[in-house]
Amino acid sequence: MLEKRNFYINGKWVPPSKPNDFEVINPSNEEPFAIISLGGATDTNSAVEAAKKAFVKWKETSKEERINLLEKLLKIYKKRFNELAEAQSMEMGAPIDYAISAQTASGQSHLEDFILRLKNFKFEEHFDSKSNNHISYEPIGVCGLITPWNWPINQIALKVIPAFATGCTMILKPSEIAPISSFIFAEMIDEAGFPAGVFNLVNGDGDGVGTHISGHPDIDMVSFTGSTRAGKLITKNAANTIKRVCLELGGKGGNIVFADSYPNAVRDGIRNVMSNSGQSCDAPTRMLVEKSIYERAVKEASDEANKIKVDVASKKGEHIGPVVSKVQYDKIINLIKSGIDEGATLAAGGPELPNTLNKGYFIKPTIFTNVTNDMQIAKKEIFGPVLSIIPFETEEEAINITNETEYGLGNYLQTEDKEKAKRVAKKLRSGCVYINGNAADSGTPFGGYRQSGNGREGGTWGLEEYLEVKTITGWK
Ligand code: NAD
Repeated sequence: MLEKRNFYINGKWVPPSKPNDFEVINPSNEEPFAIISLGGATDTNSAVEAAKKAFVKWKETSKEERINLLEKLLKIYKKRFNELAEAQSMEMGAPIDYAISAQTASGQSHLEDFILRLKNFKFEEHFDSKSNNHISYEPIGVCGLITPWNWPINQIALKVIPAFATGCTMILKPSEIAPISSFIFAEMIDEAGFPAGVFNLVNGDGDGVGTHISGHPDIDMVSFTGSTRAGKLITKNAANTIKRVCLELGGKGGNIVFADSYPNAVRDGIRNVMSNSGQSCDAPTRMLVEKSIYERAVKEASDEANKIKVDVASKKGEHIGPVVSKVQYDKIINLIKSGIDEGATLAAGGPELPNTLNKGYFIKPTIFTNVTNDMQIAKKEIFGPVLSIIPFETEEEAINITNETEYGLGNYLQTEDKEKAKRVAKKLRSGCVYINGNAADSGTPFGGYRQSGNGREGGTWGLEEYLEVKTITGWK
């Protein structure tokens, strides 16, 4: 059993103020493999005190000093890349090859991109040539960073790196469900030589450390990625201290497949939604198919879902792993049952365990057809390998159905008609629209409309989240 009870506070690994063991479960076999501690108010306060003290000097560091440290961190990241991948694979069930090529690679690419953006970022600028006003971008201060389990290092990198880059100090509280990769990340930060107190790691749950962070008077900003449910609680709890709250929340992405889409559009849509066992906030979980190709699309979708293998995370090769926990497993199975009860047609998968596995939180790639947008499976974020297929007749209807959700994170559309693609993309109410399977480049902003969140992560937009903007008159 891996013992990881300590927290990283003020540059040292320290025990929790009160013992409070918590088992980390391997979702491939349902067995505990590590023990961490859940912290409380005392641990959070010590970390905030260290971050507050460190901010005084860290905010005065030059961009070059911070770039230097980030470049050291990048070297160490590359050195310990495989360890990070193995930890994520074990803690949240990503198949090892996916943990390498997607989960861990994304952390590295954010690190590389933020270094580049930081090099080009101007912290000081003149308002305009005729004015004697000056604009200064200054670090907001002490940041509380709260992350989920589904892409552990990706989410951590999207917060910790821009906080470092802009001169902020921080307390990271990773998900208690998948906390092991963050220990390795903290060790890397320690090895890179960031000054004591700039980065602090306190483990805990939402009711404990999470709530202490969002309400803490000495924390200037909370950046949270997770469920819309927790995002609302954090916003309310943060209100008394008027701290900045940046939220990256849930989604229920639409994927509009027009009759003139490219040949593999349906197949790619299935692969996309099932990857990471459907546990991605921008997964295209509602496939809207134009009526004239509906029957063909349903067949292609079910054939593809039936081809996707489900297996343990440690096995190499292309397959999907388990979902992260018993809680998630039960939630997903209940939603699959609700789809059947509400009259949708089960075209592939279903609530039973895949027949090659009798242990672990495995769910078969599941496809529902004849879904209407008012069913639970079309409304709720399932966060599992489950797709709903909804027919449409006109472009306007497709746009309306896609937008008829409380979320607005990532939407997708498939058509060979370039003008139609642009027209529809502009009408979709979401932070990202992906046309014909094109991925977003590293450094583009990521975030949501409506209940998918506030603010943007990644690239220059991701740096700006951690900055205050000051106007100084009489500068010349
Ligand atoms: P979650 O909201 O249960 O937990 C996320 C984190 O918040 C964890 O660290 C948890 O301990 C903490 N937390 C929970 N309740 C809290 C509270 N009241 N106060 C403070 N902290 C609290 O979410 P999850 O199940 O870990 O992650 C899945 C969710 O994350 C999905 O809804 C998914 O869409 C979302 N997500 C969004 C993005 C994005 O960029 N928009 C990215 C990844 C995941």
